[in-house]
Amino acid sequence: MRKQIIVGNWKMFKTNSQAVEFVKNVDSQLGSNENLIAGIAAPAVMLSDMTKVAKNLVVAAENCYFEKEGAFTGEISIPMLQDINVSYVVIGHSERRDIFGETDEMINAKVKALLAANMTPILCCGESLEIYEAGTTMDHVKKQLSDDLNGVSAEDMTKVVIAYEPIWAIGTGKVATPEIAQEVCKGIRDHIASLYSQDVADQVLIQYGGSVKPDNIKDILGQSDIDGALVGGASLVEESYLGLVK
Ligand code: PEP
Repeated sequence: MRKQIIVGNWKMFKTNSQAVEFVKNVDSQLGSNENLIAGIAAPAVMLSDMTKVAKNLVVAAENCYFEKEGAFTGEISIPMLQDINVSYVVIGHSERRDIFGETDEMINAKVKALLAANMTPILCCGESLEIYEAGTTMDHVKKQLSDDLNGVSAEDMTKVVIAYEPIWAIGTGKVATPEIAQEVCKGIRDHIASLYSQDVADQVLIQYGGSVKPDNIKDILGQSDIDGALVGGASLVEESYLGLVK
């Protein structure tokens, strides 16, 4: 049985004090559940204080760099994250790819660096509206995953979380129907099976992301190949976050 993993993606919202307040309030109402990983990915500046108050919540980074240290102004390294007890990192979000020009090559280097450090990448993939309308979603997502996972061993692959996020559904209010989300997530699992093995594919956690809200999450999580959600807007308000994970 695979666990469920529901992670909020705060993007560039909230201040440090708001983040700490949120974690204190939400964490105390969560309780521990060994079948659920409930997390929040937040801007790097607030992660340290968040980890100090989180007991049940997993605190994740929204990005990292693949080099350990060096002249990379503005970047955050994996050892910096480890030092503040952060072990999950969102990698290759469509906003990083589209706005900040991250390539599959860079994303692949980040995934491998995280795995080498025994950390968990939440690897995002997904298609634009144009690709969706052209009917080539699966080709696009398979190519992204093949490139992003290049050189990742079978053992390490079981530790990667995949987040399928159709770009046309992110922050737009347009949610892919549970059937569309399931079809692509199954296609992703089949692709992992072809790259590795069915046994590996059966262990990988696959999230759906794109306008997930408390009132639609149940139908999405009811799909057999969807093990959780990556949630932007609806993770920013305490009550709504609790509505997603409870
Ligand atoms: C996201 O930021 O990854 C996301 C899915 O955003 P939203 O839930 O707001 O569509």
